[in-house]
Amino acid sequence: MNAYDGDRLRGAMTGRGWRETDDVFGSDFAIFVTCCIRDKAEQKVLSELGRFRASWERKGRPRIALLGCMAERAGAELPKRFPWVRVVAGPRRLGAVPDAITDAYENGRVRVIPSAGPRALDDLYCAPVPNANRHKAYVTIAHGCDQFCSYCIVPHVRGRFASRDPDEIIREASSLVEGGVKEITLLGQNVNTYGRDFVDGRSGCRFSNLLSDVASLKGLRRLRFTTSHPVDFTDDILDVMSGGGVICPSINLPVQAGSDKVLREMNRRYTRAEYLALIGRVRDALPGAAITTDLIVGFPGETEREFEESVSLLEEVRFDLAHTAAYSPREGTPAAARDDQVPAGEKARRLVRVNEVQALISRAINKSMEGRTFEVMLDEAAPRGEGLLQGRTVTDKVVLVRAPGEMEGSIRGVRVTASTPWCLEGDLT
Ligand code: SF4
Repeated sequence: MNAYDGDRLRGAMTGRGWRETDDVFGSDFAIFVTCCIRDKAEQKVLSELGRFRASWERKGRPRIALLGCMAERAGAELPKRFPWVRVVAGPRRLGAVPDAITDAYENGRVRVIPSAGPRALDDLYCAPVPNANRHKAYVTIAHGCDQFCSYCIVPHVRGRFASRDPDEIIREASSLVEGGVKEITLLGQNVNTYGRDFVDGRSGCRFSNLLSDVASLKGLRRLRFTTSHPVDFTDDILDVMSGGGVICPSINLPVQAGSDKVLREMNRRYTRAEYLALIGRVRDALPGAAITTDLIVGFPGETEREFEESVSLLEEVRFDLAHTAAYSPREGTPAAARDDQVPAGEKARRLVRVNEVQALISRAINKSMEGRTFEVMLDEAAPRGEGLLQGRTVTDKVVLVRAPGEMEGSIRGVRVTASTPWCLEGDLT
């Protein structure tokens, strides 16, 4: 979502005559779009901000705009601590940012723009200009989240769930496809509840309708979405996906824990059995689909036995990939206030263990792909390795392929020749 916000700001700022540069210390303004989902993400930003001190004291630039969740949380404190921070705006005030940056630049003002409330939204209406990859783009379909998982800061900093207008989404997606984008990822904290907050004539609009409408855009080759909530992943979504077409059979279904007690305390609203039943329905409807998950270890009060239930769930489901994290207390959330926190060393041990288990599973799944041919969208030069392009299968597996640079952006048949838990290698067929 931050990459998407960055893409839209890029469109808004260049549209106002600003020019983008790689030379951040030589620039007039540097924009940070921050995350505060974990403490580590915040610490990284604070350390990055510190690096600008010398440049500021010597040249009085660059000024910095600090946006996103961390800006919402830390607010006015940041310009006091780092005087080179001149604009601070939360994720629901993106619409005010281009004017604030111009004002801060031309008039030297400090602009702190907090959210006007958890339901207020001052959005930026501007087509995103993808930077990192011109073949793929994100489109946010909803802001905020109403789920209030007990460990999560998102509803507190990104506000309540608000679906974007479907016509606006289609317009944005069409303009991206007309501009040459081949793959779109629809974004939201819980995309599955899209449309449920509509009360007017759009009240029949559901995520499955939107998915089907975007999928029918002429020229779009691949459509993905993230993230889903297991409770709201309804069968109408599977029906649309199983119709084939451009919707990729790749689903991220965050489970977060394998124990019913921990799931209840996380306020996830499903049991292990219900989650497993959903996985069964997905696999029945979409044989061969890739399923990934998110998992937290060391949630407050998680016993060794409960942790082992997470391990056994990984083994039972055999996810393609698991995004794992040690629980990170976020101030203001119910879980952070608990006095039965798991010690850091124990969380680290549990994290190593789940990663080892998942690596074996991912390795076996990827190994089984060797010798077979898949359609791969070659979307960028590989970060390492001369003459290699990097692409993805429809199931979102990363593939490295020896191919000429002019093939970038095309979809090719690739025979997989080697694999690791995280990536495949292959030859053009
Ligand atoms: S659904 Fe996701 S974003 Fe929403 S509160 Fe739960 S973890 Fe946070």
